[in-house]
Amino acid sequence: MDPKNRTSLKPRACARVHFDKDKKITIALPVFEDPEIVAKFIDGNKEILEKYPLIVIDRNGGEALKEYASFYRKTCCPTIGLPLGSSRGFLIGRVETEFTLNLDVDVLLPKHFVKESLKKFEDPKVAVVALDYENLQGHLAFGPSIWRTEILQNLYDWGLWKTRKCECIYMWGKVRGAKYKVETLGMRAKHLRSVSILIGQGKRGFLNCSWNILSRLYTRFKRRFLV
Ligand SMILES: [Zn+2]
Repeated sequence: MDPKNRTSLKPRACARVHFDKDKKITIALPVFEDPEIVAKFIDGNKEILEKYPLIVIDRNGGEALKEYASFYRKTCCPTIGLPLGSSRGFLIGRVETEFTLNLDVDVLLPKHFVKESLKKFEDPKVAVVALDYENLQGHLAFGPSIWRTEILQNLYDWGLWKTRKCECIYMWGKVRGAKYKVETLGMRAKHLRSVSILIGQGKRGFLNCSWNILSRLYTRFKRRFLV
């Protein structure tokens, strides 16, 4: 056999290094997780990780994302590494595409989320499309949400100590305050909630979410029965 032909029959050795990515949406991903959760995240979201540019701040456990990321920074730097709001803000500021997909690394997106979300943006008033989880948290989550980048960059200033509300509820309030719409779809994301996220970045946010739900229920109860 001609040696030239033999080389052309070889499988391409480094196909995984280069992805031809669609530059419409950037995935902004702060990581603070166990590597096993990150592996599940990659496995469950592989299609979009290969399709769109991914930018990562890795505070812990995200080494495996390097090969998918167009920007990757390992950090323990307090200004961009901690807390969650600063990491997210740093990433959002770097996005140059029309849309931004905010993800948490313990979230698996349902099929067609991106495609169906983009249809919602035909309405110019829609700023963001978000989902709740299969195990309902009672409001749409920020972790799986697609935004018009320009609006997100203008509005995002969440920080737990400053706002005293979970990221999702706070940001939906800002969107409505700016007279835009929050949209959703008839599908749910899967939440791989892990112990480390509860103990680490998530605990206060989670408690705040629960507090928000409880206080809303109490207000409704009061209005109906006590007034
Ligand atoms: Zn929340």
